[in-house]
Amino acid sequence: MPQIRAAVITAPHAPVEVREFPEPEIMPGAVLMKTLYSEVCGTDVHLFQGKLSGVPYPIIPGHVAIGIAEKVRGIVNDVNGKPITEGQQITYLDVHKTCGRCWYCLVAKASTRCPERRVYGITYGAADGLLGGWSEKMLLLPGLHILPVATSISPETFMGGGCGLQTAVHAIERAEIQLGDSVVVLGSGPVGLSCAALASLSGACKVIVSGAPDDRLALAKKFGADEVIDIRTTHEAERAETVRRMTDGRGADVVIEACGQPRAVREALQMVRDQGRVVVVGQYTDSGEVELNPHGDINRKHVEIRGVWGSDFSHIYKGLRVMERFQDRVPWRELASRVYSLQQAGQALNDIEEMRCAKAILQPGRRGA
Ligand SMILES: [Zn+2]
Ligand SMILES: [Zn+2]
Repeated sequence: MPQIRAAVITAPHAPVEVREFPEPEIMPGAVLMKTLYSEVCGTDVHLFQGKLSGVPYPIIPGHVAIGIAEKVRGIVNDVNGKPITEGQQITYLDVHKTCGRCWYCLVAKASTRCPERRVYGITYGAADGLLGGWSEKMLLLPGLHILPVATSISPETFMGGGCGLQTAVHAIERAEIQLGDSVVVLGSGPVGLSCAALASLSGACKVIVSGAPDDRLALAKKFGADEVIDIRTTHEAERAETVRRMTDGRGADVVIEACGQPRAVREALQMVRDQGRVVVVGQYTDSGEVELNPHGDINRKHVEIRGVWGSDFSHIYKGLRVMERFQDRVPWRELASRVYSLQQAGQALNDIEEMRCAKAILQPGRRGA
């Protein structure tokens, strides 16, 4: 029986190990996917640091991946009722087992808060099987939502969007951007860059990205930012003043926090106009607290603050549609410039943590250390 290699985070802060697994049994309704690429994102760094709760170490990370359907057992249909076929380029929604029966699913219609949901590469461990993208092959279990990826989208372009694009689709939905809006995006990582692109595509007429370093700010311009603010050469009050100056003295209609620093939430409140909207998407892990003045920052400003948790099928679906249509305008492909082998997964984590690249792409079929 051929063995399948996968990179495993055995425990927080432990070196990443490449381990071998037997080819799994493929039950009816499941698909064995040959992994072309997966990614190493900020969430994986948090997995490595032990910052996420409910993670069953050892774990095969890689919640987003693209590959080729190698074996399909029984009939597995996509959302349009078309069967997934062997040889097809596919991806999947990393969230599995959203129950559709709980209060959050049925009454609040907030399936990303469903307590039953499990996430590939995050809340499934290596003991559950090949359920993470840092593996030569993945088992896409029955009930997992599989999406064909048009061949016009290269796997590298898909990965350049990756989880950041899905998250950005959700954030933009929560932001309810109107034609002509001014939008500030705090953060120039993969989520922030895709937020800038989608804000622009949504009709925002002024998109301002605040972030660093230089190469990411240059990318932000390519992703649709009209203005960029370098956080290394400015301080908080100065940046809020800059935003007011760029928005006729009022502040931005919408501010999207996509950087993960708690103080950025306060900064967002200082940049938004009265009765504007702040969307918080960057605080996926608990990075601490921040002091606010509820009177001046929230009540008197009459602002709306919205959180964004996870993503559902509609977000990956819409992200793919937008990518297919706008990949010539938005350079997602450029984000997938650093490719690593499984043996280099530890290095990739380190490079992301140290911000040496915006996104690290893992290619399980690649050999070499
Ligand atoms: Zn539920
Ligand atoms: Zn991710």
